[in-house]
Order: sequence, then structure tokens, then C-alpha cells
Amino acid sequence: MRIIEENKTKEIIHTCNKCGCKFAYTEDDVYNNMYGTVVSCPSCQEEIILKEFNRPFQFPDSYFYFGGKDSKIIDNETIEREVKKGIKYCLEHNEYQWFTAYGNMFVEVNWLTGDESFDITVAQNYYNQTISEEEAKELIS
Ligand SMILES: [Zn+2]
Repeated sequence: MRIIEENKTKEIIHTCNKCGCKFAYTEDDVYNNMYGTVVSCPSCQEEIILKEFNRPFQFPDSYFYFGGKDSKIIDNETIEREVKKGIKYCLEHNEYQWFTAYGNMFVEVNWLTGDESFDITVAQNYYNQTISEEEAKELIS
């Protein structure tokens, strides 16, 4: 026996643990956030974790991927504009670092004043995660 096509319209009933709203969702309503696979409560918008990312903390399962099929693709023109904005910001505010991130784009500008140069990083479709100091110390122990 084999499955020809999964029924993605199958409804699953869930009760929000924040507001108590009982609602039905399908596989199409499910997405990932920093903590795991979630569904958003249609009443209070609380993100309900259906499946937490694997522990221990490991790449790439524990990371959020900025570049999945639901990501906004940032075009080259916009990236160019952000790089210029970063350089301008550093020079005008005497700051050594500037960064921005949205959609599938990450841009970081570092002013290396000792070298009289700018180090510019552009990343697309990248992975990111934030962990507590406690988790970080456990990770390297
Ligand atoms: Zn709710």
C-alpha cells in the first residue's frame, strides 16, 4: 500500500491554552517560528507550539531558516540600498557596526577604522537562532 497524496485539508481541533478558544486548523496553517512548529490562535494570535525543535541545540534543526518557501525574497536593488544606508549610518553616527535583517536578507556593515576599510556581509537564505546564556554555557561544557 502507498499514499498517492496526503490529505492536507484534514482538520485538527485544538484549544488555545491562552484564551481557551476552540478552533480547527489544517496542515496549511502550520508554520515554523524560533521555537518549533506552531499554529497561530485565530482569536488571540498566540503562537501555539505543536512540536518543539529538537534538543540538544543543533544545526539546522534548532535554527530558524530565513529563506523558506514563505520568506519574502529581497531583490538586489534593495540590498544595495541597505548596504549604502549602513555605510552612511556608521560614518554619520561614528558607529562601528550596523546591521539589518528582513525577509530572506541579512546585511551587516563593520567599519574597521584601524584598517580604514568597511567589511560588508550580505547573507540570503540564512539560519539564525537566539539562545540564553545558560543554554550557551551548557552547549560548550
Ligand atoms: Zn487564543
